[in-house]
Amino acid sequence: MSKANAGDGSNALIALCDVVKSYKSEAGTFDALRGITLDVGRSEFVSIVGKSGSGKSTLINMIAGIDRPTSGSVLIDGTSVHLLSENKLAIWRGKTLGIVFQFFQLLPTLTVLENVMLPMDFCGIYGVRQRPDRAMNLLELVGMEDQVNKLPSAISGGQQQRAAIARALANDPPILLADEPTGNLDSSTGDAVISLFHDLVDAGKTILIVTHDADLAASGSRTIVLADGAIVEERTELGRRRPVDLKIR
Ligand code: ADP
Repeated sequence: MSKANAGDGSNALIALCDVVKSYKSEAGTFDALRGITLDVGRSEFVSIVGKSGSGKSTLINMIAGIDRPTSGSVLIDGTSVHLLSENKLAIWRGKTLGIVFQFFQLLPTLTVLENVMLPMDFCGIYGVRQRPDRAMNLLELVGMEDQVNKLPSAISGGQQQRAAIARALANDPPILLADEPTGNLDSSTGDAVISLFHDLVDAGKTILIVTHDADLAASGSRTIVLADGAIVEERTELGRRRPVDLKIR
């Protein structure tokens, strides 16, 4: 079992315990995750790195409840995510997680403002009359207040990613998950997104990112290195390298 703990190891917002994910095929069983134990505390900024095929997306999918572990548990803010029904999962995810993708995934026929309002319409936490103002405030937060009535096709990639981050914050989730959020951006635009993530962490959000971007990975408070479905190394923000238990199943 590989293990990585939050700073003090207690009161984790995200707690994975011995998470195994196996895929069955004609060739046999393949373990994409081999006993991941990981605690993430509130206001942590954790980067997940590793070669292609090391299990990064599978790990994010476990945390997002997009996929279920074969064994082990995923406890997030007191909820056993791996035990939720599909209906409850969708509602839980809408309230708890904001997800940011590499290719933004804004709906092309909706304006920027409408894209940001969409998760609010789905979750119903904020009243109908509150939603446009809240969406405007979030778009101001990410520096997009002048672009709110444009369609995604009329703005740059960096602007689309900022709009996607505003959308991810729509329901004020405690956690943001981002899969290669700077992967499709030039370096200065990517830096602006990294800086925005820092502001969000300072404001109390917990952020987990999967990235190949060395600058982005190094800017987090902690880096988790995956190889062959196990955590093989953990680096802290001070550059200290803390060896982790390399025993794997
Ligand atoms: P990464 O995100 O680090 O590139 P993934 O989590 O996508 O890695 O994949 C980890 C391993 O699990 C890979 O070898 C991949 O081929 C395998 N895998 C992922 N999803 C499936 C699936 N649905 N069925 C079979 N194998 C899968």
